[in-house]
Amino acid sequence: MLDLAIIGGGPAGLTAGLYATRGGLKDVVMFEMGMPGGQIMNSSEVENYPGIKEVLTGMELMEPWPEQCMRFGLKHQMVQVVRVEKSGEYFKLLLADDKEELAKSVIVCTGATPKKAGFDGEDEFFGKGVSTCATCDGFFYKDKEVAVLGGGDTALEEALHLSNICKKVYLIHRREEFRAAPSTIEHIMNKDNIELVLNSSVKNVYGDKMGVTGVMTVDNDGKERDLKVPGIFTFVGMNINNRVLMQEDETPLCKLNDYGEVIVDLSMKTSIDGLYAAGDIRIFAPKQVVCAAADGATAALQVVAKAHS
Ligand code: FAD
Ligand code: NAP
Repeated sequence: MLDLAIIGGGPAGLTAGLYATRGGLKDVVMFEMGMPGGQIMNSSEVENYPGIKEVLTGMELMEPWPEQCMRFGLKHQMVQVVRVEKSGEYFKLLLADDKEELAKSVIVCTGATPKKAGFDGEDEFFGKGVSTCATCDGFFYKDKEVAVLGGGDTALEEALHLSNICKKVYLIHRREEFRAAPSTIEHIMNKDNIELVLNSSVKNVYGDKMGVTGVMTVDNDGKERDLKVPGIFTFVGMNINNRVLMQEDETPLCKLNDYGEVIVDLSMKTSIDGLYAAGDIRIFAPKQVVCAAADGATAALQVVAKAHS
C-alpha cells in the first residue's frame, strides 16, 4: 500500500514528490511513462523560471529535478498508468504492464498537450519559430512581427498579449467568425497592430538553419499570401491528458469541466476525497513550469497534513 501515488513526472509530479517525501511520507511512487521532466523537455529556450539567470533548454532546466527528489526517497516507476479507480477507502492504479497498485492518496499530474495544426514545416521548425506558448516565447520577438493561428479564446488572448510586445501580429483564422468571448473579440478589433487574416489557413512555414523566416497562407479562394515573419504561434486547442481518470463506463472518477480539465479548489483537491490534480491538467492552469511546480507542492502538502492528522 502506497502512502501516495503521483501520476506524471513533469514539474508538477516531481515537485509533489519532493514535498511529499520531505514531509515524511514513506512510500511515495511517481508513475511516469517516459523520462521524468514533462513537456518542457521539448523546449529549446526557457528564460522565465525564477532564479535561473541563464537561458536554458528545457532538458537543462529539468535535469537536476529527479535527482533532488530521489534523494529524499521518491521512487520512480517507468510505466503508464491506464486508470485510477476508487477501491473502498483507497485508490487502485491499473498499470500498462498489467500490474496494480493500491494507494491511500493520488495526485494526478498528467498535463496537457497542445494540438498540432498540421501545416508543412510545423514539426521541422517547432521551437525554431513555431511555438505553442506566447508567455514562454513571446519576448524573443520583441518589436518584431509575428503570426498567430487560431480563432478561440486562447488564440485571441495570446494575440493580445503578443501585440503588447511585438510590433505587429497577423491573426490567421480559417473562418470569418471567431469562437472567442465577445469582449475578447472587441479588444482584438480595437488593437491597431493586429491585422486579421480571415478565411485563411497556413499552407506552410519556411526558413533556414536559424529558424522561420516566413509563413505562407492560403485563403478560401486559393489566394496565397507570404507573411515575412520570424515566428508563428499556434493555438488550435489542447488535449487534456485526463484518460487515467476515465472509468470503464467512460465516466470520469472526479468532476471535470466541459473542456475536460479537472475541477480543483485552491488546495488542488478534486471532488473525490484523497484525489488531487496539479499542473496543466487542472482548471485555470496558467500552463507554466513555475505554476505547475507550485501546484504539485500545494497538493503534496495537503496529503502530508492529512497523513499526520
Ligand atoms: P507535463 O509537463 O505535461 O508532464 C506530464 C507528465 O505526465 C509527462 O511527462 C507525461 O509523460 C506523463 N504522463 C501523462 N500521462 C501519463 C500516464 N497515463 N501514466 C504515466 N505518465 C503519464 N512553461 C514555462 O514556464 N516556460 C517556458 O518557457 C515554457 N516553454 C514551453 C515550451 C514548449 C515547447 C511546451 C510544450 C511547453 C512550454 N511551457 C513552458 C509549459 C510547461 O512545459 C508546462 O506548463 C508544464 O510542463 C506543465 O507541467 P505538468 O507537470 O503539469 O505537466
Ligand atoms: P478552441 O476553443 O478549441 O479553439 C481552437 C481554435 O483553433 C478554433 O478557432 C478552431 O477553428 C481553430 N483550429 C482548430 N484546429 C485547427 C487547425 N488544424 N488549423 C487551423 N485552425 C484550427 O481552443 P482554445 O482557444 O484553446 O480554448 C479551449 C477552451 O478553453 C475553450 O472552451 C475556451 O473557451 C477555453 N478558454 C477560456 C479562456 C477564458 O475564459 N478566458 C481562455 C482560454 C481558453 P474553428 O473556430 O473554425 O473551429
